[in-house]
Amino acid sequence: MSATRPLREAIVDLDAIASNVSTIAARVAPAGVIAVVKANAYGHGAVPVARAALAGGASRLGVADLDEAHELRDAGIDAPILAWLHDPVADFAPAIARGIEIGVSSLDQLERVAQASDAATDAAAPAAPARVHLKIDTGLSRNGVAPEEWPAVVARAADLEAEGRLVVVGVFSHFANTSREVDAAQLAAFERALAAADAAGLRPALRHLASSEQALRDPSSRYDAVRIGIGMYGLTPFGDGTTSADLGLTPAMTLRARVVAVRRVPGDTGVSYGHLWRTDRPTTLVLVPIGYADGMPRHATGSGAEVLVGGQRRPIVGRVAMDQVVVDVGDQAVEIGDEVVVFGDPATGAPSADELAEAAGTIGYEIVTRVGARVARTHVGEAGGAVAPSGDVAPGGVDA
Ligand SMILES: *Cc1c(COP(=O)(O)O)cnc(C)c1O
Repeated sequence: MSATRPLREAIVDLDAIASNVSTIAARVAPAGVIAVVKANAYGHGAVPVARAALAGGASRLGVADLDEAHELRDAGIDAPILAWLHDPVADFAPAIARGIEIGVSSLDQLERVAQASDAATDAAAPAAPARVHLKIDTGLSRNGVAPEEWPAVVARAADLEAEGRLVVVGVFSHFANTSREVDAAQLAAFERALAAADAAGLRPALRHLASSEQALRDPSSRYDAVRIGIGMYGLTPFGDGTTSADLGLTPAMTLRARVVAVRRVPGDTGVSYGHLWRTDRPTTLVLVPIGYADGMPRHATGSGAEVLVGGQRRPIVGRVAMDQVVVDVGDQAVEIGDEVVVFGDPATGAPSADELAEAAGTIGYEIVTRVGARVARTHVGEAGGAVAPSGDVAPGGVDA
């Protein structure tokens, strides 16, 4: 269609992000929403998405790495930010100076944060001392303080807090998304960890455990805040067929491209690498310049995955290549330059990222985070656009 649009484009609707956050915030209230914008906001663009999420009612942002938190501060976002996955040699002092809250997963990290906090205090950083969230491993066996180490960590944290060297803002953990039984066991482990923290004299204002899946289904998991990633992007956290539409959520990302070639071929024509697929009739093939380098999984080969061409759902045929896929449009009239929607909001007739994920044997999270670097990102919508950059201001009190 329009030749002014990029050849390949991921369009991110910031109003959909804000509206998904506000839908989830209403559902989980009085718990607050920590909007998870790690991995470039699941491929959607960290800074604009963070602003839209705050406009939609999130009170805090969550990221994995400190670098991701610094990127948000660099853009002038002054909301509270929590980062929880650290380089073993991370320098915490600059993060503390900027009021970036630090997830702590070991005694060693706690000591290093305290030292960095002292340095930030000596440098008269307005945001010092450090604000930390202690993370307990309740059964994911990944990040987080091991249960046997927890009493030592909370005791030391209480001492450091009493000395004014840091503030324990939160205690948190993460579910393994396994089963109701495992969820219940993790919740019980979290309760024990909270009791131990309380016995040590800690009064964390923010207890948080749930991500999208439990936040949407299990009120007992919500505590003071929930950490929402996938739901905010309008994709489903559930593997049981519950769609984002069932949850009242709208996919924010649309991946589109323009047809670059159209060819009429006879029956029994081999298509793409290895001729894994052959035409069984005369048909029209169109070439779409989205391959596995752009986020179309190679595992979608032969899966029946479809794209939207001129309002019609049409199958990808033959091997998914690095730069392109072939789509069989039958006798439909398609021209070079016509728009193809690879995934988007199913309400428009397009397949969803969740549907493509299902076909390729993966999850929607992986589809959106792996949209490739040569795909242009375009942000549309008003949400968060009015938020002016406001410099390196440290966040104030706990408000989630
Ligand atoms: C990624 C992540 C989340 C968000 O999970 P979703 O399933 O996308 O809601 C929450 N908490 C932690 C610790 C995470 O790593």
